[in-house]
Amino acid sequence: MEERSLTFDLVELLKEETGKCINCGFCETVCPTLEPSGYDLWKGARGRVMEAKELVKAVESGSEPLRAGDSFYSCLDCHACFYICPAGVNAGIASHLSREIITTQHIKKNENPTAAMMTSVTMKYNNPLGIMKKCASWSEGMEFDRDSTDLLFTGNMYQLMSYEKGMNSLRGMMGKSLTLRISSMVSKHPSLIKLSPKPKDKELDKKMSSSLKNIVHILNMSGIRLNYLGGNEPYPGTFLYDLGYIEEFKEYAKRVSDIFHKANAKRIITVDPHSYDLLKNVYPLYVENFDFSVTHYLDLIDVPLLFKERNITLHEPCHFSMRSPEYTAEIKILRSTANLVMPERSGKKSRCCGGPDELLFPEISEKVSQERYAELEKTGASQIVTACPICFSNLAKSEKVTDISDFILQSVLL
Ligand code: SF4
Ligand code: SF4
Repeated sequence: MEERSLTFDLVELLKEETGKCINCGFCETVCPTLEPSGYDLWKGARGRVMEAKELVKAVESGSEPLRAGDSFYSCLDCHACFYICPAGVNAGIASHLSREIITTQHIKKNENPTAAMMTSVTMKYNNPLGIMKKCASWSEGMEFDRDSTDLLFTGNMYQLMSYEKGMNSLRGMMGKSLTLRISSMVSKHPSLIKLSPKPKDKELDKKMSSSLKNIVHILNMSGIRLNYLGGNEPYPGTFLYDLGYIEEFKEYAKRVSDIFHKANAKRIITVDPHSYDLLKNVYPLYVENFDFSVTHYLDLIDVPLLFKERNITLHEPCHFSMRSPEYTAEIKILRSTANLVMPERSGKKSRCCGGPDELLFPEISEKVSQERYAELEKTGASQIVTACPICFSNLAKSEKVTDISDFILQSVLL
């Protein structure tokens, strides 16, 4: 019964969101996935709104939607469409609601097998690949303060990037149909993930580990003593929420909250925009007594930074520029250290790096990242700074691309 009413509320919300559409097509001009998909109408913002309307009709009439699935799963959730839509429609939100509806039992056949696999593995191992211990290897030999109430939360996000790259190469070799068959099997028997090979991109792994060490170093220099959960640190559950597995997400987020309470944490210091947004804005809606102060490490930097005459550019993470445009810490820091030349598409008009599609739609992801990289290159800047491990991993097409933690450390006035 509860599931039916949940579906009903979601359908009402989706109806409200899509009902405002006047079919003008402006959103297609900014949607980053339309062109890279070969102008597949269903993989652009307007197509998603149209498909969402079809989904509403299908659920209301008790029939199966014809196509619903890839259209919603390929949405990057960047929200660029919202800022140009004259009717105030957000095709990103419509896609998110649609994914939530798809994961209900009524239309499970439209579920993406890779999404289902990531969900069941995360529910079993607190990590989408079942590798929590490996995700703590960057911190070997580092000292943390077990009595501190300031908890460093990496959410395994930096660490997972090198595995995602490695796994994508493996998937490319296996081909789509074998990948989907294996994903489907693992989603039913998540412990199989332990038997599957987990290649990683060693070069990227080195960079990601170095960025995490830099962050700890910067926070220590700012006078903050950190606790860290090491091999027991859970993934924040980003996939579960983003892919619409809300019932699983609720259970999972409560588990993460209990882990934080057990560690006696008061302040959670996040290091990436996805975990920051999720813990700060979404967890309190789903978890009772989520009474932690959630902050991003960029807000805590208290070290003198040196201004050097040079032109740099910034690729803003969508979770800051378009989903929380009031968050501008990274811009302020960079402006105090160099001449910041913003790319043509920036702020609320920014372009996603394509990262959220890397797992399910790698071809689209690669084309979006190439287009974004070209825009950043066009600024003529000597360094391209990113403030998100997913963006870094997707845009690292030359040595110019630098994680903001590396850049800050280069700018510390000793
Ligand atoms: S811009 Fe807005 S109103 Fe126009 S097609 Fe897109 S969603 Fe519909
Ligand atoms: S949220 Fe981004 S990817 Fe999704 S429809 Fe809107 S512009 Fe396109």
